[in-house]
Amino acid sequence: MSRQVVAIVGRPNVGKSTLFNKLAGEKISIVEDTPGVTRDRIYADVDWLNYNFTIIDTGGIEPSTDDKMLTYMRQQAEIAIETANVIVFVVDVKTGLTDSDYQVADMLRRAHKPVVLCVNKVDNREKFQYDVFEFYNLGLGEPYAISSIQATGLGDFLDEVVSHFDEEGGVAEESDIPRIAVIGKPNVGKSSLINKLLGEQRVIVSDIAGTTRDAVDTLVTFDGKEYVFVDTAGLRRKNKIEKEGLERYSIIRTVTAIEKADIVVLLIDAVEGVTEQDAKIAGIAHERGKGAVVAVNKWDAIEKDDKTMYKYLQDVDTTLSYMTYAPKIFISAKTGLRINRLFENLDMVIQNHALRVATGVLNDVLYDATAMNQPPSDKGKRLKLYYMTQVSVKPPTFVIFVNDKTLMHFSYKRYIENRVRDAFGFKGTPIHFIIRERK
Ligand code: GDP
Ligand code: GDP
Repeated sequence: MSRQVVAIVGRPNVGKSTLFNKLAGEKISIVEDTPGVTRDRIYADVDWLNYNFTIIDTGGIEPSTDDKMLTYMRQQAEIAIETANVIVFVVDVKTGLTDSDYQVADMLRRAHKPVVLCVNKVDNREKFQYDVFEFYNLGLGEPYAISSIQATGLGDFLDEVVSHFDEEGGVAEESDIPRIAVIGKPNVGKSSLINKLLGEQRVIVSDIAGTTRDAVDTLVTFDGKEYVFVDTAGLRRKNKIEKEGLERYSIIRTVTAIEKADIVVLLIDAVEGVTEQDAKIAGIAHERGKGAVVAVNKWDAIEKDDKTMYKYLQDVDTTLSYMTYAPKIFISAKTGLRINRLFENLDMVIQNHALRVATGVLNDVLYDATAMNQPPSDKGKRLKLYYMTQVSVKPPTFVIFVNDKTLMHFSYKRYIENRVRDAFGFKGTPIHFIIRERK
């Protein structure tokens, strides 16, 4: 099952950040250094009992005037409805119910997504007992009383959140149809590509029965093979997100689309060249173990000579240095240039992402690798690699048994990874290694 996404919405000052930080603990991802991108936390990983999920804080830059409040709230709710599996609506017991709380509740109710109502700042349960009841008026079911500051009430509240996770499982998630996300910075051509795909004569588009009510995903058949393009609804009807919220929205969309996908198509703008922002986006997909195809888009719009393609290939590998495994193609979402090549590359990456290698041949490779390039040693003790086996796919993950973990340096691990790639390819997919000690 793909990682579930929980979005937090609510008025300013109700305690969204405090709750977010409590849930995220140390594992907060700060998206920094990207020009124009807000520096606060936007998403984080949460581990709760057996559940791992991603939380996103939809609240961005707060409105400076009260009359902008409703627009701001509406935008948060729209982002949450579009991207999340479960929405947490935070209200404040100390201020009680406000007009905008009612408005947001209305929007959320109409979206037919699971909503958990979270009444924050209940620092004293006895004192606030009756105040909490007031929130039933929102028509969102039972209010869960918590105190983010004291971290109380979180157990029942989170149990309620995770109880909704299966509802969205849907048919497509269970099936073997590969799930593809088209990602990239604003204006790179994501909507154009999706619209082009849907308009192609060889593509058959159908809505997916039994998934989400809003049909945010699209089933596409190309040359007789099926693909699910995730989160396409927002792209097809191009959201009307306000300028101030755009960067934040774009990151939230990227993270949530990646979580729902097996494979990403990362679009790069040929006109602008490869940028740090592309590297950030690529990094999220890489970190999450997704397969990737890098597609340089708007290839129709630039002047080219016989060296242009080579230069772009080099730029991509330099800037997206951890993703050199990804195949690179040059397309135009506008003219449809090399759309069939895109599907060919997707097919290859889908296969490699799920590839299993037999233990026997794997250990032949390990044996040859260690014979050719002796493992490192430290203070007279030499690293020994005993045995290697593949434990999972999507992405391919290997366990290597060694005598002493501390001797396994990054560079030697990289060397083993390269030997494994030389032998088996794994084009387009990250591969993971787990190092275990065996005495
Ligand atoms: P946000 O704007 O919704 O992200 O709200 P913040 O997390 O920034 O919190 C706003 C204010 O409420 C801060 O002063 C917090 O310390 C306070 N606050 C947050 N959670 C609680 C709580 O559980 N109890 C109390 N008493 N105050 C809280
Ligand atoms: P998104 O924000 O990533 O969804 O980007 P859009 O699909 O909205 O595209 C942004 C702009 O780039 C629009 O003006 C498109 O017409 C243009 N565009 C997208 N793909 C191409 C392409 O392949 N070639 C050219 N010349 N323009 C493109």
